[in-house]
Amino acid sequence: MEFATRAIHAGQEPDPSTGATIFPIYQTSTYTQSGLGENKGFEYSRSGNPTRAALESCLASLESARFGLAFASGLAAESCILSTLRPGDQIVAGDDLYGGTYRLFERVARPLGIETVYVPARDVAAYAAAITERTKYIWAETPTNPLLTLVDIAAVATAAHAHGVKVVVDNTFASPYFQRPLELGADIVFHSTTKYINGHSDVIGGALMTNDEPLYEALKFYQNAAGGVPGAFDSWLVLRGVKTLAVRMRQHQENAIALALFLSEHPKVRKVYYPGLPSHPDYELARRQMHGFGGMVSFDMKGGLSAVKKVVKRLHIFALAESLGGIESLCCHPATMTHASIPAAVREARGVTDTLLRLSVGIEDVRDLIADITQALE
Ligand SMILES: *Cc1c(COP(=O)(O)O)cnc(C)c1O
Repeated sequence: MEFATRAIHAGQEPDPSTGATIFPIYQTSTYTQSGLGENKGFEYSRSGNPTRAALESCLASLESARFGLAFASGLAAESCILSTLRPGDQIVAGDDLYGGTYRLFERVARPLGIETVYVPARDVAAYAAAITERTKYIWAETPTNPLLTLVDIAAVATAAHAHGVKVVVDNTFASPYFQRPLELGADIVFHSTTKYINGHSDVIGGALMTNDEPLYEALKFYQNAAGGVPGAFDSWLVLRGVKTLAVRMRQHQENAIALALFLSEHPKVRKVYYPGLPSHPDYELARRQMHGFGGMVSFDMKGGLSAVKKVVKRLHIFALAESLGGIESLCCHPATMTHASIPAAVREARGVTDTLLRLSVGIEDVRDLIADITQALE
């Protein structure tokens, strides 16, 4: 079956006991057993819950994976990956990471003896060169936040596998509709389902997908042992949200392309970052490894911070907010919001200037979005 069909049906047969067409919310902590050791596959909802299981199979299907695991947040899912490491182990990561991932690596993993080494996100040779006998994972986010830099997943996976190292890809920005890292050789795909997968800005969640059975068993063990699982209702909301992933992503992208082109020609804009523009340094790679370019657009304004402050205040439809991937348009100022904890000099050197704005382009009518930006820039 094709992607859009699987997004609606995978893992969701009509309920056998009632025929309910929409998969029910199994709001139960426990399951009555018919005899000692006799149950219907569920015993206690931390270990397994039917609504969560439906979500896990659906997400696995969308990422071309055999196995899926859902979590209470993206960071709970990332912690699960870290649980497979031991003191002395090492991660090699792209340097353009989501702030919460960086904090997890530096303030939680490092004190436990798990070290992360950072390399320039786009530089395949640098990942390979940083691998030592202690390296267990290469961790790549692509496209990155907020500059939408791409990592060549297939090339990084080839280099990693030559050393017995596994590859984790954070696929949150692209969504499986536009990019399927396991098909390109990655070993684990991670999602903050909070973003495009749920798509309605009303749930926090995470997920891991893999084809590697021993790895899946280790991750599943930790999911139950540490217990960072999503409740039945949140699982159901994500399951409901993901049904429209294909149509949403198409519209996010259509609107994003229109805005990227509009901004590219605007006299008050210095530079636009969107992997679907031929001027983007990773445009060719995007065409090769992705099935589209996504809904995130960043742009650098002319003028200084004061000009940016005025523009942000004047936006009506674009809400000034962190997060991304919902149906509504958001605008974020990375320098003072998502990337505020990075020292200014480091931030500027990476291109995250005081005048950079990041748009999560929603699926409103694009004429209203362009009108909103036009009046704000005037
Ligand atoms: C939001 C996000 C995360 C963290 O997920 P939470 O659901 O907030 O815990 C990780 N990576 C990326 C790229 C994100 O955007």
